Amino acid sequence: MSAVRLDTPVKFLKGIGERRAEALERLGIRTAQDLLWHLPRRYVDASSVTPLAKAEVGAEVACVGRVVAKGVLPTRRGLRIFHAVLRDDSGVLECVWPGQAFLDRTIAVGQTLLVSGPVRFYHGRQMAPREYIILTDAEGEADPLSAGKVLPVYPATEGLSHKVIRGLLDRHLDSLLPLAHDPLSPQLRESLGLPTLQDALLAVHRPTSAAEAELGRRRLAFDELLDLQLTLTRARELAKRQRSGVAFQVKGDLTGPLRAALPWTLTADQERALGEITADMTAPERMHRLLMGDVGTGKTVVALFAMLLAVENDFQAALMAPTELLAEQHAATLGGLLEPLGIRPQLLLGRQTAAEKKAARSAIASGAARITVGTHALVQESTSFRRLGLVVIDEQHRFGVEQRAALVGKGAAPDVLLLTATPIPRSLALTFYGDLDVSTLRQRPPGRGTIRTAVRTAAQRERVLEFVQREAEAGRQAYVVLPVIEESERADLRAATTMADMLAARWPDLSVGLVHGRLKPAERDDVMRRFRAGEMQVLVATTVIEVGIDVPNATTMVIEHPERFGLAQLHQLRGRIGRGAGSSYCVLMADETVPDRLHAFAATEDGFRIAELDLQERGMGDLIGARQSGGFEVRHARLPGDEDLLTRARELAGRIIGADPALQRPENQRLRERALSRFPRATELFRVG
Ligand code: ADP
Ligand code: MG
Repeated sequence: MSAVRLDTPVKFLKGIGERRAEALERLGIRTAQDLLWHLPRRYVDASSVTPLAKAEVGAEVACVGRVVAKGVLPTRRGLRIFHAVLRDDSGVLECVWPGQAFLDRTIAVGQTLLVSGPVRFYHGRQMAPREYIILTDAEGEADPLSAGKVLPVYPATEGLSHKVIRGLLDRHLDSLLPLAHDPLSPQLRESLGLPTLQDALLAVHRPTSAAEAELGRRRLAFDELLDLQLTLTRARELAKRQRSGVAFQVKGDLTGPLRAALPWTLTADQERALGEITADMTAPERMHRLLMGDVGTGKTVVALFAMLLAVENDFQAALMAPTELLAEQHAATLGGLLEPLGIRPQLLLGRQTAAEKKAARSAIASGAARITVGTHALVQESTSFRRLGLVVIDEQHRFGVEQRAALVGKGAAPDVLLLTATPIPRSLALTFYGDLDVSTLRQRPPGRGTIRTAVRTAAQRERVLEFVQREAEAGRQAYVVLPVIEESERADLRAATTMADMLAARWPDLSVGLVHGRLKPAERDDVMRRFRAGEMQVLVATTVIEVGIDVPNATTMVIEHPERFGLAQLHQLRGRIGRGAGSSYCVLMADETVPDRLHAFAATEDGFRIAELDLQERGMGDLIGARQSGGFEVRHARLPGDEDLLTRARELAGRIIGADPALQRPENQRLRERALSRFPRATELFRVG
């Protein structure tokens, strides 16, 4: 066999065939390097596990025990409960999974399970695990924690348990480690107090203590932050050099009439953002600005003013959205606002017929299409613009750098306006968007419906369902949202299906739909379209409901297991209601013990405030979209927490990119080469022509 390299596809590694390679791909693992950098989600060690006998009612604990009995119990309501009794040296604990009878096929007597969740009292102590992981099979393996080890818990996916991933890493770690070359010099490492790359990888996969694993993580976090800062710094440098663009003039022959035709006045925040955009666009440098604001703060109309400014200078403008549904919605909204001006936005979608696409493309090429709205179909080779002056990208984080760059490349030197509905605190904005100018919309326009958020517990479920039913009977629509997390994806999807079946059986006169991430995008769009058209009253959904989807008639959202979501994510979900004029209701169906964080969440509607709370609580991993920037996924760094590393990374990046004479030092040379090999991706955005 030829020697394994870091870029060897995983399917060529021993113990991984085509099928496992496919499952690994779902976790983003394609090469040996990806496997080596697939870090544990967390660690379990003997000191962080509660003995079963000590799991107290009202507490939230993690326990490890062997399954000694299990089965499915029916209840009077027809809900089937899977239960399992765990035993360890201290005693036993019963675990119950309501509505998840299918676990009977997965969980077997003799297995060792890690379970975590709240303990309550119901004919004795009981845990309703939020999470379970099968640590060992029934066949005589010792409990991996019995030797006092620190156990890494890996992100898993359907068809690939955490245990299999652990096995693969165990098997390949020793042969892969020597392939990881450390780009940092010993001096630099020492000054940062960080281990070598190989030691760090060893520490995260096979720690002897939690502290050692953490130090390893910090090393990997530093590398990641350095890559990111190098990219941003380089992008900023390039932008400075290549910034000559179009200096648009405010002529007012279109922006004026739009202002006059709007049925309302812009909010102060919208005016300020528009002022900033106009200043950028009228300057001879190219604009590269991010417009950040919660769903419903009115980004679209601000973007429209920018587009009209380009159009009144005889340039074209294009808006790219991440899905066909969102593109259609934008085209409809813009179409309405543009009607009085006699401009019709041109739509370009992958699913249009060949003839429609051909007509659209010829209108775009001739310049007849002054404003074009579309999906990534806009960036295909066959699409060319006569004179593209402004590119607007909605939900920018959902596009790869290449796609954004490709659209920008359709013009000579178009201005770029990126939109995002994921507000993040300033400190993070600097980390991730250090190369962009940022405008923020914090106020919501007046006259829109309010969203009332309530926290309810399982005991009040009946009343919540009756409320949903009344709303549906009154002609309004509701979402019921369930979490899906990678680690227990299969069980979660089953829970969503079970919920949809349960509601359909309960409400024979209502139409109940189901949408989740395993559907193909076209199927998903289809369900959403039917919901929007009012063909269904209740939509059971996992977290895939589109950000920005506009169903004004959907006024209620019930969120199951809200404690499993980050606050920022809850906020994104909640943004799907409250889009009409009336009141909307978001109900969080919590466990008996409601954590304070949910009350704090219910008390505010300010996305920036919630992002700050979330950041304090769980670090930045949960701020959706914040993880992706310039094609980099930030997976290892934690903010707050790693600010020291961030500062050093920024400083170092500045020196490496700048004309610092210290650049001549060989270790910096090495970093520079490594950085340069990555730049083309992130800096394409600024490419001229
Ligand atoms: P976003 O894209 O930020 O989610 P939208 O642009 O979709 O927000 O705006 C949400 C709704 O508010 C739209 O129906 C829009 O017409 C309306 N709207 C926007 N600006 C104002 C304003 N200044 N006053 C009243 N309504 C507004
Ligand atoms: Mg929007």
